[in-house]
Amino acid sequence: LPVGGLTNIGILGCGGRMGRMLLQELSGRARLAGGVDKPGSGLIGRDLGTLIGTEPCGLRVGEDAGALFAAADVVIDFTAANAAARHAGLAVLHRTALVMGTTGLDTEAEAALHQAATKVAVVRAANMSIGVTLLTMLVEKLAAQLVPDRYDIEIVEMHHRHKRDAPSGTALALAEAAARGRSVALEQVRRRSGDGDTGPRAPGEIGIVSLRGGDVVGDHTVIFAADGERFELSHKASSRQIFAGGAITAALWAATRPPGLYSMTDVLG
Ligand code: NAD
Repeated sequence: LPVGGLTNIGILGCGGRMGRMLLQELSGRARLAGGVDKPGSGLIGRDLGTLIGTEPCGLRVGEDAGALFAAADVVIDFTAANAAARHAGLAVLHRTALVMGTTGLDTEAEAALHQAATKVAVVRAANMSIGVTLLTMLVEKLAAQLVPDRYDIEIVEMHHRHKRDAPSGTALALAEAAARGRSVALEQVRRRSGDGDTGPRAPGEIGIVSLRGGDVVGDHTVIFAADGERFELSHKASSRQIFAGGAITAALWAATRPPGLYSMTDVLG
């Protein structure tokens, strides 16, 4: 586990799929301030090194998120949507930068994140990979070119069977980008998948379809369908390393930034 590096990074949700990947990817890039998981979890007290199958490192899984924010320069959160508002509040209380990777946030959590961003640097992205950051930019540009009365936009996403929220935060971010490209509000044009006699598709709608199964890390395809042709942009993640690597890059960047709500586009310049 990491030693050296100047930035102290804390990991919230260190026992989860993304948390463990972060512990593996941190090595050599930053100093580990600690890891916290859900209070009452059976993982509390486990050594963070043995948690990822390496040598014990002397740091144990904690359950006090406040203590983690106090100890870290920046905290990375991959936990659960219902914890996000509290974590945003702790970031303000301890003046600690925050990287929010957790998706499916409700309006209360969104508001807390915006509030926190007035006091500390907050990087928020539904997908921390470089590929999806570029895809999002491409989708906005294409949507601006491929006019709504000719090109229907459908977004298809697939994730592993354990994923809790649908559609994925990434699919929503891609839909937002398409709507931005067309200068419309997503909620006014969003098409929800129906069943039975759903009637014809209205021009300009942006649809999202979610599939769940197996161990799929994250597939997203944006389809621009017209009469006589179809344009598809796809991104397929085969390892969570791409999200963890991006989240660490975002954390190192956020630790040096003034207060504000930033995206991965800001981080990657
Ligand atoms: P997971 O269920 O494997 O891990 C979540 C971990 O957080 C668990 O160990 C759980 O016990 C812990 N946790 C839950 N509530 C907590 C709390 N209040 N305090 C501390 N720890 C708590 O889930 P995962 O696959 O690692 O995904 C976590 C989140 O990250 C999801 O919202 C997912 O959609 C999102 N995600 C985002 C990206 C991205 O690039 N932004 C990539 C992958 C996953």
